[in-house]
Order: sequence, then structure tokens, then C-alpha cells
Amino acid sequence: MTIIGLHCSSTDLHAGQIALIKHGSRLKNCDLYFSRKPCSTCLKMIVNAGVSRISYWPADPEISLQSEASNPVTTSDAKLDAKAVERLKSNSRARVCVLLQPLVCYMVQFIEETSTKLDFIQKIAKSQPDFNTDFYTACRQERIKEYESLFLISNEETHKQILMTIGLENLCENPYFSNLRQNMKDLVLVLATVAASVPVFGCFGFYSNEPQPTNETCHQGLPQEIARHCMVQARLLAYRTEDHKTGVGAIIWAEEKSRSCDGTGAMYFVGCGYNAFPVGSEYADFPHMDDKQKDREIRKFRYIIHAEQNALTFRCREIKPDERSMIFVTKCPCDECVPLIKGAGIKQIYAGDIDAGKKKADISYMKFDELEGVSKFTVNGVQKTKSIDDQQHQNKKLSLLHSCSVLFITQPVCTLK
Ligand SMILES: [Zn+2]
Ligand SMILES: [Zn+2]
Repeated sequence: MTIIGLHCSSTDLHAGQIALIKHGSRLKNCDLYFSRKPCSTCLKMIVNAGVSRISYWPADPEISLQSEASNPVTTSDAKLDAKAVERLKSNSRARVCVLLQPLVCYMVQFIEETSTKLDFIQKIAKSQPDFNTDFYTACRQERIKEYESLFLISNEETHKQILMTIGLENLCENPYFSNLRQNMKDLVLVLATVAASVPVFGCFGFYSNEPQPTNETCHQGLPQEIARHCMVQARLLAYRTEDHKTGVGAIIWAEEKSRSCDGTGAMYFVGCGYNAFPVGSEYADFPHMDDKQKDREIRKFRYIIHAEQNALTFRCREIKPDERSMIFVTKCPCDECVPLIKGAGIKQIYAGDIDAGKKKADISYMKFDELEGVSKFTVNGVQKTKSIDDQQHQNKKLSLLHSCSVLFITQPVCTLK
């Protein structure tokens, strides 16, 4: 599957409405993933566009059912809407289902172990002589608290009431109910752990080492909160890797010249990818050895498609020369990818740079440091005064993270086989 859009609600519009405005009838046969069960206003339009499946997070729906005693009118409206949603669901061709797969055993532990080995944590660790991993743990605790308040309903009874109202009474009995809550908590833990791997720490952030041409907005760096948010998205993609040793994720965003209705402001999604063997290949089709093993002929390097390469290949929008386009990569782009990124016309690279300037047997990272004409932002501890841009985007950050309904849309990909 390929992702063709990532949207969140704005002050005027719901995420589902934005998806419809942006994609129109292209939504046909797509799958949509919602962070909350969509309201009837969104659902009727999405169903009408011919989507194939709608998956949603089984907590509070878009029109909140968390009862506010002070406002009984809102609660009865919310119940009415939940009924309408059920009716639309039962009469539509689209499958509307709960978005929640139990995680693979040890997933949380695996993500925790790999997170601390990442470029971003390592970079901070290297430049801090009195380093300890406490900042990572503290950051993770903070994210857990934040995400729990966003995605979980702390009171079990309230949660049950909501599930009954939105037509999930079959999940209200135990053991289904306690399993559901446990699965939700595990996923929140995974999200928090991944987010903490791009930590908020002191004056560290994604900065450029070179002076930026001030007159060109195309080269100005993003506010730190947004840069970090996009890097977390790339980090999540990295866990889909087909390479046993190293997962890499990449995501491309661009900024439209004109402001638009999207909750993400002027930012729009261009493409994303992770490192994998060619689409459609089976597990045993290609070698999996790395550069320490066996002879060069049976190593994986000539077969793996890099995260950046997949992001460019399966992009859903063009990269326009007059827009600020940026790629976020969890690791330093290699010598194969650097010319591709530049050639594609991407203006900015946000990446880890632990490997920059290194040469390994089958893969080298020499071109990243030498690259000119593309701005590079890596994790640095440069003390910067808080820019106006950062402050202005503070509110936008809120809409990015606290939006009432985030979704992405996937479309079937044509495979080689
Ligand atoms: Zn809606
Ligand atoms: Zn590469």
C-alpha cells in the first residue's frame, strides 16, 4: 500500500472534510485511518466518495461522548450523531472497523532498546561529557503522559459507555474489554517511546551548520516542534523495514506558497518510505548478508531500496521548484541517495549525521558533508534565540498534535509481480 495523504483537522474543518477537499474522487478504493471515529458529517461524504475501508481508534469519537454534566444538549447531540454514524455504516459498501491490532510480543521492549542507539540520542550523548540516559527516560515519561491524555480514556466505565454508544457493545465484556484497553495502552507506549527517540533536550534541535541565505525562505529551517514531529513520523516508518540490521524511514513534506485550509497549515504530504527489497519480492528472493559476512556477491546492498528512494518513487505529489520541500531521514543519506535528493529538487534535508563522512565496504556516506545547494539540518546543540517563527508555530503545533482527528489514506500499489 502507498500513503497518499496525511491530514488533521483545522479550526474550520474536520479531518475527513479536509481529506475530501484535497483528494475528491481519488478517495475511491482507498483505506482511511482515523484517530477518532468520524462524525456523520464526515462519514457520509467519505462513504459517498467510494472509499474501501475506514479504520478508527476505539476511544472517544469525533463528536465527543465524554459527558459534560454542564451541557446535556451537547451530549444528546453526540448520541444522536453516533446513531447516525451507525446507520451510515450499516448501509454503506465501505467497511468501518476498529483500528487496533495487538502488538507483536516484545515490540515495546525492542523499540526501547533500538531507540537509545539512534543518531539523535547518540549525538546528544557524544557532546555531553556528563551524559546519562536520564533525559531519554524523562522525555519518554513526558510523552507517555501526553499521549495517554490524548488517546486513552482514564475512566473504564466512561470508556465502556462510549463503546456501547458507538456500536461496539461486543467489546464491553471481559476479557475483550481488558484486552482492548491493554492493546491501546501498549500502542500508546510504542508511540511515546518512538517520539522520545527524537528527544527534547536542552538547546539541542535540528540546526544547520552552514549560514543560511536569509533572503530565500526555501532554505529557512522549520520550527523545532514541527521538525521533530516529522522526524518521529520517519522513525515510525523505520520499524516497517525489511532489513534485519538497520531500519530507516523517510518522509517528504512541502510547503505550499499559499495558505490552505488544512490543519497542518501550508504543509502538505509528498511521500514516504522505508528501506526494503523491491516491491513484490519474497523473503528468500535476495541476499540478507551485511558487510561483515561472506563475500560481496551475496550481500544485501545491491538489492535494498533505501527509504529515501522509496519515498521518492511512491510520492503522490510533484516536488515543485518554488516551494520549500523537505525530506526527513532517520539516518545519514548515503552516496547513492544524496544526488537523488538534490536531483529531485528537494530543498532541505533533516537527518541523523553520525555516519556522515564514513566509508564502509558496500555503502559510503561521503557526499552528505560535501553537498551544496540543499540545506542540511542535523541534531546540534547550537544555542539559538527562540525565533518569531517558533513562537508563531506554537499554536500550529497544538493543532498538529491535539487535532480531533488525524488520518492517513492508503491506496493499493502495483507490484512488480
Ligand atoms: Zn467530522
Ligand atoms: Zn541511501
